[in-house]
Amino acid sequence: MKKRVFSGARPTGRQHLGNYLGAIQNYVALQEDYDCIYCIVDIHALTTLENTDRLQQDIHEMMLDWLAAGLDPKKSILFVQSHVPEVMELHTLLSMVTPLSWLLRVPTFKEKARMQPHNVNYGLVGYPVLMTADIVLYKAEVVPVGEDQLPHLELAREIARRFNTLYGPTFPEPQAKLTSFPMVLGLNGAQKMGKSYDNYIELAATPEETSKLVMTAVTDPARQYRSDPGHPEVCNVFSLHRFFNTGRADEIAVECRSAGIGCVDCKKLLAEGINLRLAALREKRASLAAKPKYVSKVLADGAKRAQAIAKKTLTEVKEKMGLLPPAA
Ligand code: SF4
Repeated sequence: MKKRVFSGARPTGRQHLGNYLGAIQNYVALQEDYDCIYCIVDIHALTTLENTDRLQQDIHEMMLDWLAAGLDPKKSILFVQSHVPEVMELHTLLSMVTPLSWLLRVPTFKEKARMQPHNVNYGLVGYPVLMTADIVLYKAEVVPVGEDQLPHLELAREIARRFNTLYGPTFPEPQAKLTSFPMVLGLNGAQKMGKSYDNYIELAATPEETSKLVMTAVTDPARQYRSDPGHPEVCNVFSLHRFFNTGRADEIAVECRSAGIGCVDCKKLLAEGINLRLAALREKRASLAAKPKYVSKVLADGAKRAQAIAKKTLTEVKEKMGLLPPAA
């Protein structure tokens, strides 16, 4: 029997190249070897989102990108966190076995509290408990994480372990599947590619939009004139060539160092590489978007399958906690 993987991502709308290279590609690959459950975590988003006007649209666009990139509803369960409300009940029950001191020491809580001092809500401190509920509700054994997320998973393991100690073996302690997510810098070359920095290229961008955006990318700052030799190792355009023009990257590096290629031509090559690589995804996205209600059907089916697992786990938890009579 395949092991079960769980992963969740916040509803951030149309996905960009950084999301694709950092997470989505990995999600798609895991489908072959694991029983995968992928969730758009809309409740988590509420801990920081103060305006929810775009929430439904963002969920829809994000799922379209996931499906177009190869997430397959026949292989994986794809759903929205709040569509399986059992997770909120389990969150409350797990909060009774989680010492507050464990939550207050979480560095991301302190960071978020610093970033939004006007909105240090209860959900922010309880975030790791809800994250644990997300994972253990489906008895997931494996969680794909980057190294920076390991402390969060360790906390989930501690909460699961504490429940098991208090009420008897119930949850598997989820194991980390360490993935080396590539750090994809944004077009400004300064921060990670992301919506908050407005330095991204959407997967769904047209080839023309992609070319225009690539032309704005910051390159090696030392290369002032066409005749100056470049330093690909410090150039963000070059780092993207490594992903989108893999077979030609070494040749491009040599050309850059000898000033054999100018930055404008180099960017044109990159735009071509991105457009070629994403052509099939974009075509599929357009055809899925043209099917009315396709995404909502996928999400409804995913929620139904997820809920069947969730209900079973929750009944078991309540029986063990004495909230229901033990099963006969
Ligand atoms: Fe960067 Fe390409 Fe210009 Fe070299 S030629 S600095 S790799 S954009």
